[in-house]
Amino acid sequence: MSFEKEIQKRRTFGIISHPDAGKTTLTEKLLLFGGAIQEAGAVKNNKIKKSATSDFMEIERQRGISVATSVLAFIYKDKKINILDTPGHKDFAEDTFRTLTAVDSVIVVIDVAKGVEEQTEKLVEVCRMRKIPIIVFINKLDREGKDAFDLLDEVEQKLGLSVTPLSFPIGMGYDFKGIYNIYEKNINLFSGDSKKNIEETIAFDDVQSPELETVIGEKAATTLRDDLELVNGVYPKFSKEKYLASEQQPVFFGSALNNFGVRELLDCFIEIAPSPRPKRAEEREVVANEKDFTGFVFKIHANMDPKHRDRLAFIKIVSGTFERNKPYLHVRNNKKLKFSSPNAFFAEKKEIVDISYPGDIVGLHDTGHFKIGDTLTEGEELHYKGIPSFSPEHFRYINNGDPMKAKPLYKGIDQLMDEGVAQLFTLELNGRKIIGTVGALQFEVIQYRLEHEYGAKCTYENFPVFKACWVDPDDKNNDEFKEFKRVKQKFLAKDKQGQLVFLADSQFSLQMTQQKYPSVKLHFTSEFE
Ligand code: GDP
Repeated sequence: MSFEKEIQKRRTFGIISHPDAGKTTLTEKLLLFGGAIQEAGAVKNNKIKKSATSDFMEIERQRGISVATSVLAFIYKDKKINILDTPGHKDFAEDTFRTLTAVDSVIVVIDVAKGVEEQTEKLVEVCRMRKIPIIVFINKLDREGKDAFDLLDEVEQKLGLSVTPLSFPIGMGYDFKGIYNIYEKNINLFSGDSKKNIEETIAFDDVQSPELETVIGEKAATTLRDDLELVNGVYPKFSKEKYLASEQQPVFFGSALNNFGVRELLDCFIEIAPSPRPKRAEEREVVANEKDFTGFVFKIHANMDPKHRDRLAFIKIVSGTFERNKPYLHVRNNKKLKFSSPNAFFAEKKEIVDISYPGDIVGLHDTGHFKIGDTLTEGEELHYKGIPSFSPEHFRYINNGDPMKAKPLYKGIDQLMDEGVAQLFTLELNGRKIIGTVGALQFEVIQYRLEHEYGAKCTYENFPVFKACWVDPDDKNNDEFKEFKRVKQKFLAKDKQGQLVFLADSQFSLQMTQQKYPSVKLHFTSEFE
């Protein structure tokens, strides 16, 4: 198959949702369609069910699962589908944000009864900022939920999207009869005594046809006709161009658990979702069909086997082909590296591959060369943009708990930070080290992993800070900046890259600082122009 065709057949995407909306269930049903798994229950749910108590085994188990489900790939109707896993738990939101730099589109799952929830809002905001094409799947139609139009309004308002339904429910909950597929112009009946997985598709070009009454009954037929008229009147026609430009978001309804509405979603998805999109590097934009390989690290995972200290770095291929045993330039280190056993992912397994194409993810064994955001090329000095660090919200001093183990402790901290587990700051005033995390659970993960993987012990001490902001002065030599640095000395630190960070101890002090020193810009992500 030609290089161009290989690119065209790839769909690399992520499924995002608030925990419990049905992401795992939907993923599993998609894999079933691809024939990648034989039965339900094969995809492990990688969410942390328990609260943030010290259940370290649980954390370990979760890490194991998330290696296995980091990338799930399968073939469906000649398309190579790569699903990148995005943890739903809010303490791991940063992981998800970074994974979103490697997807070409997303499917957002929303629970019909709960509507738009907090995590969905945050994740969709990131997608919108990056202009990632979004399809919305409203799930659990077999349950009583919100009115479809109200829900569409909610999605528009809370998520700032511009939706157009491509399917529409006929009834809901107990009265759920099925779905009218606006995109394919047919009706999918949800029927049978058990209301389980019994699917019948009836072509229905014209819903005005009296046959509709015989199929779904008089009352439902009238409601559906009215609903569709309203849909036509209120929502714009679906435009693939607008969807690809992230200006319009198609919506599907269904029930992942009952495998209902999932095929329709998948069939439409493979038709409209983008193949690998161009990606901006600091130097230029890179297009998938360029001959030379380029890619970047978006995730690093420690090996689960304590005997092998190596890690797996996940690379998204942006352009060209990635070949086994071919030397590539690690741009940050200015070093050529060869990989004898790159892993590709298929269903829930990984295997060694000789060649991978744009859109694919390869897992490379790493003994500490990589960190998140690193770029690999065939020689070009290229730096991919868009892997920001987010402003952490939990802070603690980190101390060495065993004076004999200082070296492994610092090595461990260094490597965990490269993996993106948390961020390390060094106070300007006294050089003390502070760990900042997006979620509180990370402190336990760090402590546990330092002990089990590096044989080091750490202790924490509270450090009452509200938020860390990256400092970007208009002019390093102006008096305002000098004054800011002098007055706020106690609250200034450097991040691992040496960027200056302001640690605000409260919302109030943050606002006051912004007012007092307007020429000192404070940013909530490490990436700014
Ligand atoms: P995730 O946290 O988003 O991955 O959610 P899961 O896929 O684990 O689903 C959360 C719960 O909702 C599970 O108990 C599922 O069985 C259930 N669920 C998922 N889809 C549906 C659906 O279509 N209908 C109903 N009634 N329950 C569902």
